[in-house]
Amino acid sequence: MQWGIVRMTIAATQENVGELVKTLNFAEKVDRSLRLIERAYCEYGARLVVANSLGKDSSAVWHLARRVSDGIKGFIVTTRFKPQATKQFMLEELERYPGRLKVYESTAEISDELYRTDPNRCCDVLKVEPTRRAIEEMNVACWVTGLRCTEGRTRTDFQEIEERDEGLIKLNPILLWHEREVWQYLALHRVPVNPLYGAGYRSLGCEPCSSITNGPDERSGRWLGTSKCGGECGIHTRPLKVNR
Ligand code: SF4
Repeated sequence: MQWGIVRMTIAATQENVGELVKTLNFAEKVDRSLRLIERAYCEYGARLVVANSLGKDSSAVWHLARRVSDGIKGFIVTTRFKPQATKQFMLEELERYPGRLKVYESTAEISDELYRTDPNRCCDVLKVEPTRRAIEEMNVACWVTGLRCTEGRTRTDFQEIEERDEGLIKLNPILLWHEREVWQYLALHRVPVNPLYGAGYRSLGCEPCSSITNGPDERSGRWLGTSKCGGECGIHTRPLKVNR
């Protein structure tokens, strides 16, 4: 595909996301996602970086970004509690894209049971802090995520282009995609995915906080049995640019 270079200033959007989810078809959504990444890449170049959680949505976004430019870089935040299969998949991704993905992980000392006693604190230490570090160290001006508004109750109030932290654009290029459309895209492009989906998971995180569920809410298996059930780790809701 040929990409025309169109210089436009990226600014936070205020669109009727729910309506767009319903009215755009799969091909239109894919095209819209590519155009969003292309516009942002034209503006930010190497300061545009893709966050990769090693889940299906990240795999789709990473593939889309590489269709725009194989020079685009990404970062992975991993934790000591990620499932072995996810850790193995991460190693395979690093091999597939040498020099393109940087890994961040917290080595902070925390209680082994913190995910049970205070999951918000655990996510803050193991996920949010390394994300902040990645954004700072990689000099990110625009980070690209795989967030989708149909994933669950906590994800309905987002826009495709956001500026939650001043001076840091957040691009959610597949915000409008249904779960089915993610799988459609990954299948059509034969994108390798985390093998845990084969076991029945629909949303993947750390091992103690991810369960296989069948309900309508895609994220209902996250933090099952806690007040955080179906919730957020914080990278999409907490400030990411902080004074150290
Ligand atoms: S998902 Fe669970 S184990 Fe992972 S950082 Fe959050 S609370 Fe801790």
